[in-house]
Amino acid sequence: MTVAAILAEKGRRVVTLTPKATLGEVSRTLAANRIGALILTRADGGIAGIISERDVVRALAAEGGEALAEPASAYMSANVVTCHEEDTIDTVMERMSAGRFRHMPVVKNDRLVGVVSIGDVVKRRIARAESEAAEIRAYITSA
Ligand code: AMP
Repeated sequence: MTVAAILAEKGRRVVTLTPKATLGEVSRTLAANRIGALILTRADGGIAGIISERDVVRALAAEGGEALAEPASAYMSANVVTCHEEDTIDTVMERMSAGRFRHMPVVKNDRLVGVVSIGDVVKRRIARAESEAAEIRAYITSA
């Protein structure tokens, strides 16, 4: 299964803000959309960074509530690891696990076309394992 199949099922909506948005705005946007990370984009639509709930917690632990007035750019990850629609869910899982992050923007011709999370990937892996187990059971009982 590929990233394209995940996007076909979950949709291509991507929640973005600019790097100038404050951590307060980032927190409110994450909470309102029930998501764990958002993409920070430049005026031309390019990816400037990614910021997750983990970055917000880190900022609050280091600076206290005053951090909420700081720009997202001060706490985002600027070296964003992206994936493509043709990538398999196994490849994406490996890259998330190696990089210790749970979100990956999907790009096509340098444009943002979706986001996949570890939750999306694990859900499909479990579904595949269950359908393989059912096929094996059916094969055994019919033999
Ligand atoms: P997460 O597990 O997604 O909450 O992110 C953990 C850390 O990795 C945070 O510092 C994020 O900013 C960073 N991060 C999340 N996703 C990516 C990504 N695709 N590429 C680079 N860094 C990321």
